[in-house]
Parts: sequence; structure tokens; C-alpha cells
Amino acid sequence: MSWEERLSRAGWRITTPRRVVMQVLQRAGRPLSPQEIYMRGRRIHRSLGLVSVYRSLEVLERVGLVRRVHQEDRCDGYILASPGHHHILLCRRCGRTVEFPGAEDLSGLIAQVEQRTGFQVEDHLLELIGLCSPCQRSKS
Ligand SMILES: [Zn+2]
Ligand SMILES: [Zn+2]
Repeated sequence: MSWEERLSRAGWRITTPRRVVMQVLQRAGRPLSPQEIYMRGRRIHRSLGLVSVYRSLEVLERVGLVRRVHQEDRCDGYILASPGHHHILLCRRCGRTVEFPGAEDLSGLIAQVEQRTGFQVEDHLLELIGLCSPCQRSKS
């Protein structure tokens, strides 16, 4: 299913700002802040506004089309998200992100934590930070 279909099935219209944000993120290859998306988006659509970038990201994140990435010094980066439960690998040097799927992955740990704390865990986000292989090679 295309992102347009996923968006309209969730009850949202495909507006120009939403289309531009998706286009920018499809070409990015690393997390982009709303400001960066705005700057790049203006090259595609001149009258794009920063506020509509923020609003579009909000909707696209709610529908699960984009995902927020937490980086060492900030947490306003956005990447495209695949459908379903995924985790993120983030290269701290070049910012490359890779998604990997997993559903029952943390169930052992979560059961343990629930038992110890009395919390009922409903969801989790997992992000692993390190060096991608090109960056490991350029280090040595
Ligand atoms: Zn890297
Ligand atoms: Zn998981």
C-alpha cells in the first residue's frame, strides 16, 4: 500500500505540504529536523510554510508514516517509517538510520519490568546507537 493510500484510509487528505514532506524524507537518507525539511521543501514548493511542515509531521507521525529519531544532542529528527513495529539503528557519526522489525523481541524484559514495578507496559520504542560499517572502516 502506498503512503497516499495509508493516509487516506486513516481519514486524512493528501495535501501539498504532506506530499512535499514525504518527498523530502524519501530523498533524505538521514533524520531531518522540521527546519531542514522546510528548507528542502521550499525548493519543491515555494510557498511551503514552516507551520504547515510541523502540522504535516504531526499527522504523518500519528498515521505511522514518519518516525521521530532521538539523537545524541537533539530529538527532532524525522525519518520515513515502514508499517508495523520496528526498531531503529542510528549511526552517531553520519546519521544513517536503518529500521529492523521485531514484535516479541523484548517480551521477556518487559514481563520482568512489569513484575518488579507493577507497571502495565503498553508499548516501547527501541533505538540502538553506534557506528555503521562505512563509518567503522573510515575510523581505522
Ligand atoms: Zn555512519
Ligand atoms: Zn520492539
